[in-house]
Amino acid sequence: MKMQNVTILGSTGSIGQSTLDVIARHPEKFAVHALSANTRHDLMLEQCLKFRPKYAVMLDEESAGILREGVKRAGLETEVESGVMALEKIASSPDVDTVMAAIVGAAGMRPSLAAAMAGKRILLANKETLVMTGKLFIDAVRENGATLLPIDSEHNAIFQVLPRDVANRDGGVKRILLTASGGPFRTFAREALDHVTPDEACNHPNWSMGRKISVDSATMMNKGLEVIEAHWLFDAAPEQIKVVVHPESIIHSMVEYIDGSILAQLGNPDMRTPIAYALGFPDRIESGVGSLDLCRIAALHFEEPDYSRFPCLALAFEALEAGGAAPTILNAANEVAVQCFLDGKIRFPAIPNVISGTLDKLGAPRLNSLEEAFEIDRMARIAAREQIS
Ligand code: NAD
Ligand code: MG
Repeated sequence: MKMQNVTILGSTGSIGQSTLDVIARHPEKFAVHALSANTRHDLMLEQCLKFRPKYAVMLDEESAGILREGVKRAGLETEVESGVMALEKIASSPDVDTVMAAIVGAAGMRPSLAAAMAGKRILLANKETLVMTGKLFIDAVRENGATLLPIDSEHNAIFQVLPRDVANRDGGVKRILLTASGGPFRTFAREALDHVTPDEACNHPNWSMGRKISVDSATMMNKGLEVIEAHWLFDAAPEQIKVVVHPESIIHSMVEYIDGSILAQLGNPDMRTPIAYALGFPDRIESGVGSLDLCRIAALHFEEPDYSRFPCLALAFEALEAGGAAPTILNAANEVAVQCFLDGKIRFPAIPNVISGTLDKLGAPRLNSLEEAFEIDRMARIAAREQIS
């Protein structure tokens, strides 16, 4: 494989840091073209010192100013820029082969799209982009000859076990079994959910992740977003996607075939495995993840999801069935509700109420263009805030 120039959008986050960890193991395969972050200029400076990118982009101008000083003092040649346009530039530059899209939330949309339009190899962690724009994003990828490789561990697992290069179009796939850990509150009684705190919600039993996706895991909206993500990535009908709760997070997802076979991908719960798979694809490369000790794990468990304690999962299926911009609205209302919960403004069980209230108010308008997706996202955020105040 020729040397790949990589841009990492969201390099200071959980996925961003894991990506740099894998890249650092293969200096002969990957060079870092650009890094980006929201405000964490101190960690960004450390990353610049270690990886010597050509560009470092901070969303926030003030943080960029501080970083620029640090870069200058350290004698680095890294150019520091700021703002959304600069993010789009480093995602689409002719010097870039691969873009890791690891910004959290709808904020990742514009740069991810810029990478698609420029025909890049996109490693997509930012599931909100796909939920927000659906077919429009998939079309942008296809029309511009971009390559989309899923980073979400479940979708990466499905991608690994799906058939490739077979004669019949659907490859004999019957359905996708999307595994879910159930999150930190899997065994909590409904009443107990009234009093859970943001820190408890962010204390995931198996995975260490950013705060937004951690709350999504606790409400199971993360799985709901992943159902929608699987629909678009793998062209799977909603009834072909079955969520299976698997508390150990060892099986990362499965594909069931018409002959009764089920193929699964297993591994320790460490995002460096899917990241390495996508970075190296179609080759396999070292990720730093240790061997899975099956004898020590000894038992794997499976349960049906509880849609009544975790209504967000049902809301996501409903939005997917409703189609149009319903997933866009679901995603926007969820981002608003999760932020309010993290800020201590609403209780945990209010999150699905805000989302369903917003969906009831706005319905499922048609989604014809990316500009419409932005507009509907904006309106849904306003409607969600109205539900809260
Ligand atoms: P995180 O909060 O740890 O990191 C987010 C990154 O995005 C940071 O670098 C931050 O600086 C940047 N960022 C935040 N807001 C921004 C904005 N408005 N504009 C530009 N940059 C901004 O999040 P994470 O856990 O790394 O998750 C990133 C994405 O990957 C999410 O979409 C998440 O759903 C997805 N994902 C994460 C995991 C995981 O294990 N962490 C697993 C699967 C999917
Ligand atoms: Mg996942």
